[in-house]
Amino acid sequence: MTLSQGCILCHQGAKLVLFVTGRCHRTCWYCPLSSERKGTDTVFANEYPVDIPAQIIEVAESMSALGTGITGGEPLLVLDKVTAYCRQLKTHFGPEHQIHLYTAKAPTDAELAEMQGLVDEIRLHPPQECWEKIHESDFIRSAKRAKEMGFDIGIEIPALPGLEHLVPALPYVDFLNINELEWGESNAYQMRERGYELADELHNAIEGAKGWAEELCRHDKVHWCSSAFKDSVQLRERLKRIAQNTARAFDEITDDGTIVYGVIKPSESNKGQCLRLCKDTCEPDSYEDCGDRIEMAWWLLTELSDQMDGEKFVIERYPNKGMIVEMTPL
Ligand code: SF4
Repeated sequence: MTLSQGCILCHQGAKLVLFVTGRCHRTCWYCPLSSERKGTDTVFANEYPVDIPAQIIEVAESMSALGTGITGGEPLLVLDKVTAYCRQLKTHFGPEHQIHLYTAKAPTDAELAEMQGLVDEIRLHPPQECWEKIHESDFIRSAKRAKEMGFDIGIEIPALPGLEHLVPALPYVDFLNINELEWGESNAYQMRERGYELADELHNAIEGAKGWAEELCRHDKVHWCSSAFKDSVQLRERLKRIAQNTARAFDEITDDGTIVYGVIKPSESNKGQCLRLCKDTCEPDSYEDCGDRIEMAWWLLTELSDQMDGEKFVIERYPNKGMIVEMTPL
């Protein structure tokens, strides 16, 4: 099996996901874009909206990123932005910072020339309706040209019926990735219309998607990327990298890469008393005064709970002020 350099880094959770636009010239029925992102020009670095380009570097630093995956929407609709961001990333992290880009267009020679030296790997997403005649399509012409120009070139498509038609494309690409088709908020109606169902209650994978990929998966250049892998390995590894860089001394990092800490919200009148207790009984780096609340090691909060009045809970969340996964009152 051939794994692209981009995939190798993705397995380590070391890729920043840079979403450059929600606009797209296509209308794939299975499009996974959320309604908040679709059609907008907001840029996201991982899950954080970006106001100024320097924030992209900050987010990449927070996870010690070794590379970046550029996605959308259609990134080639904002090629100037893409090249500016790539230049910034390569200047900051060095030319070895590996950058891959998804596109549902067949890039022209001029577009390829603009990306040369900035994007290392291109992942083409030819529409399902052209798979049957893939060898006659512009995607093969682009793939050949990209190879000549020194890019790593691959195809990345969702698992849909008809994947076997892509076998003739394999000699022209370095790899072909198949993403397990996933049920999402934005495509649920279309999924139901086609009679597709979830394979189980734990993941968003569609029943039967693996079967559509069976024939193509026999080839060495083909890699199957499952929905479960994305949820468990890829996300977990990325969270762990972020947690290791951003967790405070008292945040406990879990095996899933989330962090756990305790919070007390004392009333205005007894906050001073709570802080004094922390000062007298705890190491200085085992708690933090956060204004209307004190955050501390979760086990310390359980130990001191009886001596401190106020609302108390243990929080588990994604690192770097990310999404709250669980909030348990004490
Ligand atoms: S090409 Fe990608 S972003 Fe565009 S509509 Fe299709 S799935 Fe959505």
